[in-house]
Amino acid sequence: MDAETKYLPNRRRTFGKVRPHQTQNEVLVFEKSTPGKRGYMMPPLDVPAIDAAKLLGDAHRNDSGLLPELSEIEIIRHFTRLSTWNYAIDLGMYPLGSCTMKYNPRVNEVVARIPGLAEAHPYRVRSHAQGIMEIIDLLQYCLLEITGMDAITLQPAAGAHGEMTGILLVRAWHESQGNPRKKVLIPDSAHGTNPATAAICGYAVENLKSNADGGIDLDALARQADEETAALMLTNPSTLGVFENEIQRIADILHGKGALLYMDGANMNALVGKVRPGDFGVDVMHLNLHKTFSTPHGGGGPGSGPVACKAFLEPFLPIPVLLREPDGTRRWEYDRPQSIGRVRAYYGNVGMFIRALAYILANGPDGLRQTTEDAVLNANYIRKRLEDVYELPYKTASMHEVVFSDKRQAAHGVKTGDIAKRLIDYGFHPYTVSFPLIVPGALMIEPTESESVQELDLFIDAMRSIAHEVEEDPELVKTAPHSTRVSRLDEVQAARKPVLRWKPTE
Ligand SMILES: *Cc1c(COP(=O)(O)O)cnc(C)c1O
Repeated sequence: MDAETKYLPNRRRTFGKVRPHQTQNEVLVFEKSTPGKRGYMMPPLDVPAIDAAKLLGDAHRNDSGLLPELSEIEIIRHFTRLSTWNYAIDLGMYPLGSCTMKYNPRVNEVVARIPGLAEAHPYRVRSHAQGIMEIIDLLQYCLLEITGMDAITLQPAAGAHGEMTGILLVRAWHESQGNPRKKVLIPDSAHGTNPATAAICGYAVENLKSNADGGIDLDALARQADEETAALMLTNPSTLGVFENEIQRIADILHGKGALLYMDGANMNALVGKVRPGDFGVDVMHLNLHKTFSTPHGGGGPGSGPVACKAFLEPFLPIPVLLREPDGTRRWEYDRPQSIGRVRAYYGNVGMFIRALAYILANGPDGLRQTTEDAVLNANYIRKRLEDVYELPYKTASMHEVVFSDKRQAAHGVKTGDIAKRLIDYGFHPYTVSFPLIVPGALMIEPTESESVQELDLFIDAMRSIAHEVEEDPELVKTAPHSTRVSRLDEVQAARKPVLRWKPTE
């Protein structure tokens, strides 16, 4: 193997590599402004000039605000070049566990761009908004059918925002019963947003230890659930990718104490079309349209975190709620005295509703069920083909994702973060690193249904090859990635002193 092949094992799949005629230095130059350059040209003025300063008063500015000065093609090249430094689901598998980075179907985008939908204004008069209201209504209906719940709000803009909305519903309901209660139980495998949500809604967080299978310890639950428990926030399947078999007993224990069961529905990609949380005792839950329902995730677009609940929580839903009149038309109802109020401007990220509905209708019930089965099959295929080289801390059956640990590689001084960075050289986005917290050195892998067996095999080959490198040449892995324009960044500085926007150098 020549040196280049060793460091760049899969050249076909490496992205953003420096072209031969570019020096590394040229590529990294970011500041490209030249004084006086323009990206536009105006025709000569053929009407009398107006005095802008007089017209605009204080709002008039004379300088260009220190904006960069470039020609049109320089701007195009700048942004296009930056986009090639990045990784995306449209370039290859994105096995970021818990995030369900599935393909964003193009049909969603076509539908969302229909001018009558894309240009709809939230203040459009009711009679002109019936079409988009019907879309919202139909999505609500589909999501209720999928979850087995009774009522829903589409307002929250993310999963974490949905959690907050859901726990505010729990709080409002307990208050209506005379006591908001004091604490929320959260398993030690939970996503960090769960305790943050409970705390922001004014509850004390009580940790619930998982049992040896990664599930809820029923005895511990029975001991800890009491008359001051507002709810348990449970992720099902859990962040270990394990389905909670005792879910109905868990719901019974909570309900016996007057507490509610909140389900973090981020992992619904393992359940859609198979089982419904409303049928196994869940009182309130959120969905992530940007995970399960194929709308763009992260930098690709705004999120959407609908909250579905049982009928007794409905009076507390955010305003406005969508109602259907006897004549079949729809209207927004604001007069809801028990509502927790608004959680977001207008009606939520409506463009995402259109995409999610397009995805649901394009698949239909059978397609959605098939999606779930394929997602689970893909995760188990990876599990089977990697479990001889990576440690599998929980042997319980996997659903849509599988969690390994770096135990064997750590013996050679290589950690999960190093393996993840090396994966970049093989042309893949890293899996989720060091989460869930109950697995030391976790490698959390979620392929989703989008991947073909060929892509899964490439990923498995990469992971096996890295395991081999760890034994033969650990330094190679510990200094990865070798194929990117920048290698290891200062992650502490990035978190403590983030540079979030370009600023002119004066
Ligand atoms: C993604 C995720 C969340 C948070 O959802 P966001 O949309 O990112 O706010 C909560 N819980 C779990 C288990 C998740 O995977």
